[in-house]
Amino acid sequence: MKTLSILGATGSIGRSTCDLIRRNRERFTVRGLTAHRRIDLLAEQIREFQPAVAAVSDPALLPELRALVGRTSTELLAGEEGLCAVATHDEVEMVVAAIVGAAGLVPTLAAARAGKTIGLANKETLVMAGNLFVGELHAGGGRLLPIDSEHSAIFQCLAGQRHDDVRRIILTASGGPFFARPEEDLRRVTREQALDHPNWSMGAKITIDSATLMNKGLEVIEAHFLFAHGAEAIEVVIHPQSIVHSLVEFCDGQLIAQLGMPDMRGPIAYALAYPERLADAMRPLDLLAIGRLDFHPPDLERFPCLRLGYQALQEGGGLPCVLNAANEEAVAAFLAGRIPFAAIAEVIEEVMADHDGGDPTSLPEVLAVDEWARRAARGRLAARV
Ligand code: NAD
Ligand code: MG
Repeated sequence: MKTLSILGATGSIGRSTCDLIRRNRERFTVRGLTAHRRIDLLAEQIREFQPAVAAVSDPALLPELRALVGRTSTELLAGEEGLCAVATHDEVEMVVAAIVGAAGLVPTLAAARAGKTIGLANKETLVMAGNLFVGELHAGGGRLLPIDSEHSAIFQCLAGQRHDDVRRIILTASGGPFFARPEEDLRRVTREQALDHPNWSMGAKITIDSATLMNKGLEVIEAHFLFAHGAEAIEVVIHPQSIVHSLVEFCDGQLIAQLGMPDMRGPIAYALAYPERLADAMRPLDLLAIGRLDFHPPDLERFPCLRLGYQALQEGGGLPCVLNAANEEAVAAFLAGRIPFAAIAEVIEEVMADHDGGDPTSLPEVLAVDEWARRAARGRLAARV
């Protein structure tokens, strides 16, 4: 029986994880759950899975959560300390890190320090603090299993292969809703259009990141820290069907690809059951129904966020953390209707240009860079409204 905590249990990844656990109760048991604001769903999940501990990130919501849960043996906590307690609980073997954004960093890092196996969906942790996180993970003796579909694909392609035999990692990208609509003026697209992803059903922030291609920029950085290859060995191709989840090219000129339906239960199940596989985690691929697979180069003029992701990785230091924080602020402003879609990339580029090039090596230093970039982004955003 594998014991799990799910950080961000009420989100898209969190709910898919719960679905897999529900269908495989003889293999997995939930010991910890967290949520941010959806305490009605968290209360339901607590009643269903009866974890040892659960936490809501906003302390003001704890009394309401207690009332919703009623009599329980689950210890109910709140705030960042509560999230960290869920991430490091003694009875927990594996932590599914599925909080969205920078809010996931501290609890995911705490899980790494505590030597947990981490199923990582929260790519922002690696983007903000890749070196620090990998260092803590090694020191803690835990292991990292990717949940992001492209990185799960690469991880599967690399099984049994030698690091030095890899020539290129090829990340696929759907291209988002605007790849298929080249006539669309990106200065005029609406929030609803940007949230209408053609292949994947995901949380709002990553859906906007997919539309700007920042998601792929973040994933290039994520791939660097997961697989220890440089930016020059990580490529991106647009693959509108989202069937080939990524590929690896080896030194002999041969490639290995991983294919499947666009369903996050595939990569989540692979991480949960690793090194085994979970039967019937998702609907298998019907190749004849798909018919064809297309590949295109990414357009870095129309989608500058991917270029900014590469730039952040190449320049390194605190720049990936700056990129991430400025992106979160700009995406929130776009979702609130305060800036046009095309301004997301412009604001991030401006904030990156203002960064002093410092290299944060500790958690307080990373958090200071994050805070600086958010303030800088808010200033730039305010100047536009
Ligand atoms: P989501 O918005 O659906 O869910 C986010 C979860 O995080 C919720 O449980 C929410 O309660 C929690 N949360 C939000 N803000 C928080 C805060 N300030 N403090 C603590 N908890 C907070 O997001 P999602 O789509 O499930 O994505 C989660 C992570 O997984 C992201 O890092 C995303 O990039 C990554 N990811 C998601 C998908 C997908 O298909 N959804 C695919 C690949 C990677
Ligand atoms: Mg992905």
